[in-house]
Formats: sequence, C-alpha cells, structure tokens
Amino acid sequence: MDILLNYLDDKAFNSLYTHLPAQLLPTFSDPTNPIRQFVSLYIMAFIGVHLVYFIPSTLSYIFLFDKELEKHPKFLKNQIRKEIWLSVKSFPLLSLVTILWFFGEVRGYSKLYHNVSDYGWPYFIFSILFFIAFTDCGVYWIHRFEHHPSMYWWLHKQHHTWKVSTPFASFAFHPLDGYFQSIPYHVFVYLFPFNSWAYLIAFVLIQMWTVSIHDGAYFTSHPWINSSAHHSVHHLEFNYNYGQYFTLWDRIGGSYRRPTEMFENDMFWDRGTQKKEREEEEKVEVEVNGKVVHEKEGMKLRKGGAVAKAE
Ligand SMILES: [Zn+2]
Ligand SMILES: [Zn+2]
Repeated sequence: MDILLNYLDDKAFNSLYTHLPAQLLPTFSDPTNPIRQFVSLYIMAFIGVHLVYFIPSTLSYIFLFDKELEKHPKFLKNQIRKEIWLSVKSFPLLSLVTILWFFGEVRGYSKLYHNVSDYGWPYFIFSILFFIAFTDCGVYWIHRFEHHPSMYWWLHKQHHTWKVSTPFASFAFHPLDGYFQSIPYHVFVYLFPFNSWAYLIAFVLIQMWTVSIHDGAYFTSHPWINSSAHHSVHHLEFNYNYGQYFTLWDRIGGSYRRPTEMFENDMFWDRGTQKKEREEEEKVEVEVNGKVVHEKEGMKLRKGGAVAKAE
C-alpha cells in the first residue's frame, strides 16, 4: 500500500495537514513520520473500504442481481438495509486492524517490490498464480475453522444471517470475521516477493469477486469454480462450499456440494419443501454445533440462553 500512500501524500495529505494546529505540524509535515503514516493509512483504509464496498455492490445490485430473489421466503425483511448496516458498522475496526499490515509494508517490512524487472516477468506471472493458490487455500481453512462451534457463534454467525444473499452481503461480517478471512492476502506479501501494483489491483479484484459470489448471478456452472451458485449453497446449508475462488479445497476437505442438485430441480423455489429443508438444516446444525438456534424476527437466541435484540 506504499504506492497508494505516496500518491495520496502528493494529492491530498501534504496540503491537508498544513491546516492542522501548529503543535502538530512537526509530526504531520514529515511524510516519513510513523504517526503521520499511521493516521494517513487509517484515513486511506477507512475511505477505501467504503469505496470498494459500495461501488461494486451497488453496480452489481443494479445490473446483475436478480430482484426476484427478494421474494424468496428466506429473504429477510429490510435485508439490504441490514446487510449495509452490518458492513458499515464493521469498517472502523476492520480498517484499524488491517492497517497494522499496511503500516508494516510502508515501513519496509514486507516483500512488496515496485518494478517487474526486479524479479522478471516469469516470476511476476508465477507470483500471481501462487498468490491465488495460496489465498484460496488460506481462506478455505480459515472459513472452515470459523464454522467450528468455538468460533461460529461469536464470529461468523452474523454473515449467515443472510440465507439468500445480495451483493451488499459481501462485507456484511463481524469486523474480525472479515479481517481473519483477509489474513492470507496480507501474510503472502510478508513471505514472498510480490509486485506492489499487482497487490493494489488484487484488492479491488478480490472485492469484486466477493461481491460476485453473493449476487446470485450464476455466471458459470463450471464445477471447479466457486461461483455464486456454490456460495448460495453455503449460505443456505452452511457446512458445504467454504471455498473462495475454486472448489479444489472443498473437494479435498470433503465439503463440496454441487449446486445443481438444489437449483436445477427447483427445490430452491419450492415453498412446499421449506419445512423439510429446515428439518434437514437443523439436523446438520445439531451434528456440527451440538444444538439448534431458532431465530425469530427481531429477536435471536444466543448461545448460553441469553436473549438479545437483533442488530
Ligand atoms: Zn458469504
Ligand atoms: Zn460460512
């Protein structure tokens, strides 16, 4: 993120900070000052996360999302508003924990490099493929671990509020859930040399991918690509298809489920099967978590028996 920070220093921060009170100027007039870098990175990440959330999600909602899905029996009342609110609520903390990695990059602790010629084109291409493979594996196992009963209730359950998701569910997580699933992307550039520009572009593309698996637009039915159809199965049945880009790790981990069974035979839309489906879901929930949590509109039962108002 150093290239983006340098760009924003030139275009915004250098002039913005001249308006600060005189006692802060010694700190904020030096672009290499760590306190100034930390503050600038926070502003950058906080604004940036709103942009990479709202722009792709809104475009996807307008042009790709099948509005018929809003009539699905499992689509919640005011769901989009709830998805957006959960996302926006998570951004202050998500930005804070994320910039710890960005701060290390700016201070020179990562292996990011600027010029392709530093390592050559063959390595550049290899590093991109390796980045995809590494993060695909990392996200799978972190996501799967988040479904462990010790993690699921407090960390990941919020994202499973959405049985039929919209593009606005792409960031609708507990802040630490979104953060944990992003760790492989950050760790990679501390372990392996990676081009700074590729890294910056990757962040935008990853977010577009995350929107795409929540938008219900089934652009491919390729069995090896973890498409929106696969991720819809995850949201509906929750212990299948934990993957991010590909279905490889679901196949290896024994959690792969082809979405066609559910979508092609129209079970997805058949209200008559809702009860049966719910019973099956509950059976799986008992197997995985040892208990079933019943949700009612406006209220939810939390583990331990405490009843709390739904956010
Ligand atoms: Zn999801
Ligand atoms: Zn999940």
